[in-house]
Parts: sequence; structure tokens; C-alpha cells
Amino acid sequence: MKIEIQGLNKIYSNGNHALKDINLEFGTGIFGLLGPNGAGKSSLMRIMVTLMKPTSGIVTVDGKDIQKHRKQLRSMLGYLPQDFRFFTSLKTWEFLDYSGSLAGLKNRKERFREVDRLLEQVGLLEVRDRQANRLSGGMKRRLGIAQALIGNPRIIIVDEPTTGLDPDERIRFRNILSQMSENDVTIILSTHIVGDISSTCQGMALLNRGELVFSGRPENLVKQAEGHVFKLNLSSSEYDVAKERFDVISTIPVDEGWEVQVVSDDIPEYNHTTITPNIEDAYVYYMEHKIKADLSE
Ligand code: ADP
Repeated sequence: MKIEIQGLNKIYSNGNHALKDINLEFGTGIFGLLGPNGAGKSSLMRIMVTLMKPTSGIVTVDGKDIQKHRKQLRSMLGYLPQDFRFFTSLKTWEFLDYSGSLAGLKNRKERFREVDRLLEQVGLLEVRDRQANRLSGGMKRRLGIAQALIGNPRIIIVDEPTTGLDPDERIRFRNILSQMSENDVTIILSTHIVGDISSTCQGMALLNRGELVFSGRPENLVKQAEGHVFKLNLSSSEYDVAKERFDVISTIPVDEGWEVQVVSDDIPEYNHTTITPNIEDAYVYYMEHKIKADLSE
């Protein structure tokens, strides 16, 4: 399956230009859509699930315009919106059963089987009879993913699923998604948390103020930051000067002053070692440094 986004723009009626000429492609696997709040991630996702029309541009699935084939798209789509909530007092299994009917699972017996299979997969089988709106935050989110997965969708779109989850739940969530990705599906995950973009992602896109600033494999983003991340050992007076000059990733007090990790295009004149960047460093390099530098050129 191939999803293509071509020349996508979204301008809201108040003039907010939320997406600026976005071009992107997704195949099968997990794709991360990363960017700070307000970058345009939700706008892009709402367009992709046909809840909203773009101002211009087109999204196709296997060559078909999703606006013209909404019904077909929706039948192969699972969506977990950012503000997923329960307004019902249904039990956990009943909620999922209801989602299953909406997703087109007509046969009751098969649906019940599917409900329990999914509850097991997301670790909610033990609370299947608990009222859904009494589940913990993390459990609700897992029920949210289960409702997005019911009916075997081929495209799964999840918008900021890990916000507010503790680290355990976040890892659990990631594992559920990577298990799912073994089934020849496309999963698109939006997040402002860099740690959600893992090596299991086939690709990632970085959005900033409506613009696509990077797309490719996570390791390529990391590669671009190579040679630009440094650990400096600074005295207190050096630190005061350096923190104004560099984009600082982290600061640790040490015996004689400060150990500071920074991104920089030039090799710092201070006592330093060059660090092998991880994805968090690469994100800071891109968002805090490279974009600002490009803008001021
Ligand atoms: P993200 O999901 O990355 O936080 P959004 O897509 O929600 O970003 O928002 C992108 C931009 O569009 C922001 O500046 C936001 O304020 C604006 N925006 C989002 N929804 C609307 C709307 N319904 N009307 C006007 N502006 C909006």
C-alpha cells in the first residue's frame, strides 16, 4: 500500500496557515510524524482521515484520491484522535463491541472473539467488565488503540497517543504498535515526544510551523547531526558565555564547573569532546539550531 500526499495546504478560515505545501509518502510499516505543538500534525491527520478537507493538494491511497473515495478509505482505516474520550457508561468490552459494529463486523460471535483477542493484545482482558470511563488514563489510551485496531484496518492513524502516559505505558504502547506493524499495515503516529520515534519506525517526518523540514529514516536525521553535538567542560564563567552562544541540550554540574552538551556547526573553542548523537540530540540540532540558522540566512 502506498499513501501519497502532494502539495497539501491547509489555511483555516481565520487565516492560520497550518500546512504549507506538504509532500510525503508512506508505505507499510510505522511512520512517525514529529513536531512541537502547533506544527500542524493534527491538521494533517484530520485531512488524512477525511474529517477535514485541505485548502489545496491531494492525498491518495494506492493512487485513489481519498476525498473521492471516502467510504472505501474509511472501511480500511483505524483512527485514534488526540482527544479520544468516553461519554458512555459502557463496559470496556461493550465499548469495543460497539466500535466493532461501527467498523463493520456484523457477525456477533466473530465480533466477540475479536473483542477479546484485542483486549488481550492491549492488556485489558482483566478489566473487560469494568466501566470504560472508570479505566486509568493509560488503560483508556489502550482501549483507544484497540478501537482503532478492530476490524483489521490496513491504515492506522494515531494522534499523540502517548501524551500524559507514564514511561511504562509509553513503552507498552510502542510495543503494541510494533506488533501491529508486522501485519503488513501502515501505521502513522503523530507525537511531540521524540522518544516515541524509535528504531522500529520505517520513516519519520518532522513538521515545524506547518512546514515539512525533514522526511526520511530516523537514522538519517541522526546522521545529519553527526559532528555537531559536543560535550563541553566549562568553568562557571565560561558557562555564562557559552550558554548564550550555543543551543544547549543538557547541563550537569560537576566538581569544577559544568558539563554541558550543545549543538553547534563550528567546533567549540572550549575543552570539548564530540558526541555520537542520538535522536533527541538530532531533534534539537534540527529544531533549535538548523532551522533558526536557515531562517537567519
Ligand atoms: P499540532 O497537532 O502539531 O499541535 P495543529 O494541526 O493542531 O498542530 O495546529 C496547527 C496550527 O493550526 C496551529 O497554529 C493551530 O493554532 C492552528 N489551528 C488548528 N486548528 C484550527 C482551527 N480549527 N481554526 C484555526 N486554526 C487552527
